[in-house]
Amino acid sequence: MPDKRANSGQVLVLNCGSSSLKFALIDPRNGDASLGGLGDALGHSAPTVSWNIGGEKHSAPLKEGAKHTEVIEFVVNHILSGQGTLLQAISAIGHRVVHGGEKFSHSVRINDQVIRAIQDCVALAPLHNPAHLQGIEAATKAFPGLPQVAVFDTAFHQTMPRQAYIYALPYELYTEHGIRRYGMHGTSHRFVSERAAAILGKASTDVNIISAHLGNGASIAAIQAGKSVDTSMGLTPLEGLVMGTRCGDIDPGLLLHLGVRLDYCLKEINDLLNKKSGLLGISQLSNDCRALEQAASEGHQGAQLALEIFCYRLAKYIASYHGVLSKVDALVFTGGIGENSAFIRENVVSRLGGLGYQTNQARNLEKRFGAEGHIESATNGAPSPTILVIPTNEEWVIARDAAQIIEGDNSTPSAQSTGGG
Ligand code: AMP
Repeated sequence: MPDKRANSGQVLVLNCGSSSLKFALIDPRNGDASLGGLGDALGHSAPTVSWNIGGEKHSAPLKEGAKHTEVIEFVVNHILSGQGTLLQAISAIGHRVVHGGEKFSHSVRINDQVIRAIQDCVALAPLHNPAHLQGIEAATKAFPGLPQVAVFDTAFHQTMPRQAYIYALPYELYTEHGIRRYGMHGTSHRFVSERAAAILGKASTDVNIISAHLGNGASIAAIQAGKSVDTSMGLTPLEGLVMGTRCGDIDPGLLLHLGVRLDYCLKEINDLLNKKSGLLGISQLSNDCRALEQAASEGHQGAQLALEIFCYRLAKYIASYHGVLSKVDALVFTGGIGENSAFIRENVVSRLGGLGYQTNQARNLEKRFGAEGHIESATNGAPSPTILVIPTNEEWVIARDAAQIIEGDNSTPSAQSTGGG
C-alpha cells in the first residue's frame, strides 16, 4: 500500500502549447517527478498522449480533434486513477505561462482577475497565452476547487532597468502598445542563478551571474544580486542569440528589404525568421546541435559555419554582459545544448580568453547528461573566472512556487502592476 503522507502535496505542472500539453507530477520538496508526459498533435486528426510513470513508458491515441481538456481527463481517468493515492496527493496545479507583460513580476494564484490579465497579454504571445488559458479552463473542470498557480516566463526579467528594456523607438509605442523588451526563459534563469549561488556557498543576493540557457530556443541573462538586469530576448523570443530555427539579432532594415525589394509578405517573413533561420537556416541541414556537431566533424561546411556563428554570437553577448555587471561570480551553461555540449562550451569559452576564461578539458567533458559542477581551469597561473554547468529544472520551480503560494508563504494573490519596472 503506498503511504499517502509520503506522496501528499504533489503539484501537477502543466505546460500548454497551441497543439501540445506537457504534464508532470512533481514533489515540490525535492523536484522528484512521479509522472511525466506529453499530449501531442492536439486539435489535429491523430492526437496522442505519451507518458512515463515508475520508469515505464506508455502511449495511447486520443480521439480525433482532442484538445487540452481531453489530455487532462486522460491523465485523471486513465493514468492516475490506477495509481493508488497519487490522484488524491495533488494539492495544486502549476501552469507555465509564457507572457505576463508588465502585470506580473511574481508567480500568482489564479483567479478571475489573473485570467483577465493573461488574456490582456494575448497580443504579446498570440500562440502561447491562448493555449495557457485553455489549459487553465481544462484544469478547472477536471480539478474543481483545487488551487492553480501561474508561473510566468517573463516575471523574472521584470527587474530590468528601463535602459535595458526600452527600444530606441518612438516612446508612445511603449506607453500605448506595451512595445518593449520583456525577455523569456525567466524561470530557468532564476533556477540556475539560485543554484549557482548555492554551489558558490553564497546567498543569491550576494552574487552576479551570467546565465546562458541554450536549447532549441536560447537566451542569456545578466543577473545582479539575484535580479535580472538584462536579457537577450525582447518583445518576442526572436531577439538575441542564434537559435535552432530563429535568427536572433538582425538588422531591422532587413525586414523592409525583404518586403519591399524581395516581395515577401508578413507571413513569409514570420516563417523565415522563426522557422527557417538560426542553425537550420545557416547549415541548410538541421536545427539540432547534436546532428550539426556530428556533420561538422565529418566536414559539412554549413554545419561548421552554423556552429561557429552560434558560438561567436554567444561569446559576444557574454563579453557585453561583463560590461553590464560590475563583477561576475559565475558564467552558467544550461538548456539542452548548455548542459550537454562540451564542444559548444569549449568553443565559446575559447573566444573569451581576453576575459581570463579557460575550461578544464576533463571537467568539461565530464559535465554532461545531468552532471552539475565547475568546468573552469583552476591550474593556470591566473585562474579562470568560474564556469558552471547546471541542469535546469523549470518544472521544479513551478511546483515550488505553487506549493509556496498555496501555503501562503510567498503569496502575491492578485495581478500586480510593476508600473514599468
Ligand atoms: P532543449 O530545447 O533545451 O531541449 O535543447 C535541445 C537542443 O539540445 C538540441 O539542439 C539538441 O541537439 C541539443 N542537445 C541535446 N543533447 C546534446 C548533446 N549531447 N550534444 C549536443 N547537443 C545536444
